[in-house]
Amino acid sequence: MATNRRSKSERKRVLVVGAGAAGMSCAHHLANHPDKFDVTLIDAVDYCGGQAFSIPLDKERHGTSWLNQGVQGGSCIFHHTMTMFARQGYHADPVKLQVSFGKDDVFWSNVFPTQLLARHQMEIKRFKRMLTIVRWFELFFALIPIKILMKMFFFSDEFTNTVVLPMVALFLGTGNATPEVPSIILERLCTSPTYGMWYPADKLSVASNLPPMVVFPKFSDFYESWREDLESKGVNVRLSTELTKVAKRDKDGVIVKLIKRTPTSDAHNPNSAWVPQEDGNVEPNAQEVEEHYDELVLCVLADTAKRILQPTASFREKRVLGSAKFSDDITVTHWDSDYMKKHYENFYNPEQVVATLSGVDQTTRVQMAQKSFKPMYYIKMYDQDRSKLEMCFDCTNYQSQFPPEVSFDKHVFQTIYLNKHRDGHLWPIDEIEESKIIRKDW
Ligand SMILES: Cc1cc2nc3c(=O)[nH]c(=O)nc-3n(C[C@H](O)[C@H](O)[C@H](O)COP(=O)(O)OP(=O)(O)OC[C@H]3O[C@@H](n4cnc5c(N)ncnc54)[C@H](O)[C@@H]3O)c2cc1C
Repeated sequence: MATNRRSKSERKRVLVVGAGAAGMSCAHHLANHPDKFDVTLIDAVDYCGGQAFSIPLDKERHGTSWLNQGVQGGSCIFHHTMTMFARQGYHADPVKLQVSFGKDDVFWSNVFPTQLLARHQMEIKRFKRMLTIVRWFELFFALIPIKILMKMFFFSDEFTNTVVLPMVALFLGTGNATPEVPSIILERLCTSPTYGMWYPADKLSVASNLPPMVVFPKFSDFYESWREDLESKGVNVRLSTELTKVAKRDKDGVIVKLIKRTPTSDAHNPNSAWVPQEDGNVEPNAQEVEEHYDELVLCVLADTAKRILQPTASFREKRVLGSAKFSDDITVTHWDSDYMKKHYENFYNPEQVVATLSGVDQTTRVQMAQKSFKPMYYIKMYDQDRSKLEMCFDCTNYQSQFPPEVSFDKHVFQTIYLNKHRDGHLWPIDEIEESKIIRKDW
């Protein structure tokens, strides 16, 4: 093999920026062609995985020593992800998703029928008919935002805000931007047998299936194994290395400016002085060095890519990268069960259950819920404005490393508050007991 290899200088020198899922995957595929590519992978922080990482937990209290922060799980159709796990000897565990939507009089679930669903039986039937019409005229409805679609078919605000929007927000993670999501997504979510989370839509309960999902293995171990694997294939992985600027791009290649960041104890190096809108001016004296590559692959967020390309970016690149809108959300990892009881429906409550929907007996679902209702995902609508959402995971019910019986007051939750700038006044974030906050991530 070695004799067939082109000399090092004939290979394209590729710089991959960002060692999250995208950058690792890119480096992996390039590394499969060592005769063509000489790959360098950099990341500003001191670990691989990007947004997908694990944090330590107090095992005595919570029953396990680690938690996947933020990124919890995905769909069974994530074939590429599963393949990458398997290659490194890891696997994702199957789980059937149980969701708790809303609270008190606007509570409903995909697990059992509640008063809210009984109250909206006419609209639920109409919703099913609307899906058929949207499917017939998909081209027409494709780009119409969900908020307009719901008005066109005369749905009530309560049904739109408490049933429809949360169903979509959950699947897409679109949070408070969900009203703007194209109608075709809502339609496919309920009609697609392959990726429709709420397929088939139920004419009595809207969503009565338990979507088969997977929960991910310990990210920090998986990405560390993957990093070692890439290095064994010749990829030069350089962590705590930030690309500050693309200085030149032309037919001769790219010239980039890099700085070395000082690693922190938790590997999440704070932003450097080159990243704007930061309070801290970390490492303002770091020396930029210049490096030359044949190709550059940016596997970073769109706004970061726009900033670092800025001196060399074309008009089209600026337009495309600038069109991605980011909101200032915060994820609070905590174990404040009182907060959860106050703001969400966590348990089976016979007072909220209905025995029939439109005269159809619901005993089987009710009995199942009585025995095994354990919500993993919560979405709540704020009382002051029900079109605005707060999302939450019960990680103890969701992630498979937790033992089955952990008392509720020791469960670990992640509450996601959305759009500080616009909706921060609605956030009850200060109600989480300070001593029970494990971590906050913007
Ligand atoms: C709270 C939350 C929950 C989520 N939950 C799920 C879930 O349950 N299931 C799911 O499938 N997806 C989930 N996602 C989405 C998922 O995390 C992302 O789609 C995925 O991790 C993105 O990977 P990426 O490689 O594109 O980017 P990232 O993971 O963001 O990686 C980009 C990397 O680039 C580095 N970088 C940035 N700028 C520079 C620079 N100038 N120089 C060098 N390095 C740089 C960063 O440090 C980072 O490591 C969630 C996301 C969030 C925020």
